[in-house]
Amino acid sequence: MLDRIEFLKNEINRHNHLYYVEDNPVISDFEYDKMFAELKELESQSLFGPTPDSPTRRVGGISEKFLPHTHKHRLYSLDNTYHFEELEKWYEKIAAEYGVDTEIVCELKIDGLAMALTYENGIFTRGVTRGDGTTGEDITNNLKTIKAIPLRLFETADIEVRGEVFMPISSFEKLNEKNIAAGEKPFANPRNAASGSVRQLDSTITASRDLSIFIYGAVFEGGSQPPTHYETLMQLKKLGFKVNPNVKLCKNMTEAIEFCKEWEQKRAVLDYATDGVVIKVNNIAYQEDLGFTSRAPKWATAFKFPEEEATTTLLDIEIGVGKTGAVTPVAILEPVLVAGSTVSRASLYNFDEIKRLDVRIGDTVMIKKAAEIIPKVLKVVDDGAHDTRAVYQIPATCPCGGAIVPREGEVNLYCQNPNCADQMKAKIEFWVGKDAMDIDFVGPSVIKQLYDRGFITDAADLYTLTRQDLMQLDLIKEKSAENIFTAIQQSKTRPLNRLLTALSVPNVGKETAEILAGEFGTLDALGQASVETLAQINGIGTVMAQGIYDFFRNNTEFLAKLKAAGVEPAPFETAVSDELKGRSFVLTGTLQNMTRDEASQKIKQKGGRTASSVSSNTNYLVVGENPGSKLEKAQKLGVIILTEEQFTEFIK
Ligand code: NAD
Repeated sequence: MLDRIEFLKNEINRHNHLYYVEDNPVISDFEYDKMFAELKELESQSLFGPTPDSPTRRVGGISEKFLPHTHKHRLYSLDNTYHFEELEKWYEKIAAEYGVDTEIVCELKIDGLAMALTYENGIFTRGVTRGDGTTGEDITNNLKTIKAIPLRLFETADIEVRGEVFMPISSFEKLNEKNIAAGEKPFANPRNAASGSVRQLDSTITASRDLSIFIYGAVFEGGSQPPTHYETLMQLKKLGFKVNPNVKLCKNMTEAIEFCKEWEQKRAVLDYATDGVVIKVNNIAYQEDLGFTSRAPKWATAFKFPEEEATTTLLDIEIGVGKTGAVTPVAILEPVLVAGSTVSRASLYNFDEIKRLDVRIGDTVMIKKAAEIIPKVLKVVDDGAHDTRAVYQIPATCPCGGAIVPREGEVNLYCQNPNCADQMKAKIEFWVGKDAMDIDFVGPSVIKQLYDRGFITDAADLYTLTRQDLMQLDLIKEKSAENIFTAIQQSKTRPLNRLLTALSVPNVGKETAEILAGEFGTLDALGQASVETLAQINGIGTVMAQGIYDFFRNNTEFLAKLKAAGVEPAPFETAVSDELKGRSFVLTGTLQNMTRDEASQKIKQKGGRTASSVSSNTNYLVVGENPGSKLEKAQKLGVIILTEEQFTEFIK
């Protein structure tokens, strides 16, 4: 056990230095917290307890870049947990001491850099990083460049406030784009970008970076401290500080946990990073009574949101082929738990991205998974052996044997074999998908077996499959075969717009398919349209028109096969009223009482339009749970935002 304690202490100290001093963490926070929790547990079991130099007794770290300044009032870290049961245990102890309704305040935990700002007579005189809690770095001049830090307060108070300097996510992304374009290293996350920007020796660089601050605490000099934390926050706001509006005064831990759950879902809408919720005892007298450990207040604790980044080993890079023949590299990973699920594959987008990251098979990599987003490889983590590994070479051929070639003006490479098996399977997977023919029970594994065993060569063959054919597949018994058979047969009369989407006509997505179906009414009429006729339609350019025209000429055999198999699309559902004529809607997030498709149908039935992305033409954004970046864009463009409830009312 002592060996393990020593190992963990060394590792944590090493990572502290990389994180606090070099702004270059090489492991995720979740992994760091796991090591930290293990060390704390082992120390509590050891006869010797934590040694004075143990990282579990200390706060942060400090560089020698700036003049050190000793804090007048010590700054602390926070104990944290990823589990609600531990929050309940923490509150039970508080409630046992101060009563069952002891008030607590929930605030978002801003993922930035802690600062202590001193005001004398209402004038900003000094700004110091938290550092090791006792001594920080004096970065007053840099902090003066941050517009959200008032240089003079509305009242002449003597006060030391604590807050978190952060960089908005949108500014972080822009800064990284600029850095990459200039051949510089991008920052790993907004926290590192904020830390790197505010701790610049040249203040003009800090001034050029978009930084902000939320103030979340204060020590009032001369006995003017409000009696509760909540009132302190309100008072800080009155003095002119930027205080985060997402604060809740709770009567018990059940309410606090509700707040945590709510923000775990909603945090994606914010333009700043938050890694959890801080829960603080409201009554300042109770806080003083509870006091501190050597590292953290006993009157506060943090609930950390499940981590979305993790480090693991890149075992291999596989080639994936999409329905257009685009060849994309996929990272095969040592399975790792991220945000509650095990990840063993991640996107590498394209071969340029592999080159940019210089990722090599065998490397330790940091991956990221955000809600509803495919995991992606963020960066290579220095494990000391990267340089000894072979630089990744783009394969010359696709797994089907076809040559992999570039196309002018595109980043993607393409498989040149028109009969590429992987491409064909991808096309069929798209055909059965929700946006296309919506065929239940036919997933990638059924398609793979059907294709590999020669039952189908394209999507049209699905319609000639018999129940007996299906029963020859692994694990498919009579009942499943019946389900698959019925689902395929029922899809024969899907509306024309769905068939057009399923056909994967170049550049024709769901929305264009709806325009075309509405315009031509039948597949034959569309197939006979000239390039000129097509190009005159609003929303169809000449390139798209030519693509549609060519598609019908190059796929006569496949289209005939579909017809012969009895695929007879129903006409596109036209609007039953024109109440929403000319109004454009975008849907984002998960709706509770209907699917997004159903919501779209309702809009279309009333003559409205739906689009997949927000633009200046969008009139309404309907927001479900876990909305993506569309919400932010809509807010910027002044688009009317409707919750699901408001939308349901509206559509009535
Ligand atoms: P912390 O960031 O987990 O929590 C304490 C800090 O939260 C406070 O100092 C304060 O700055 C901040 N905070 C944000 N919002 C707040 C609010 N509303 N009220 C009060 N405080 C608020 O702790 P820490 O000591 O700064 O850092 C430890 C954490 O840093 C670890 O848990 C880990 O997540 C991360 N870390 C990671 C690595 C790595 O290698 N990945 C290394 C060291 C530390």
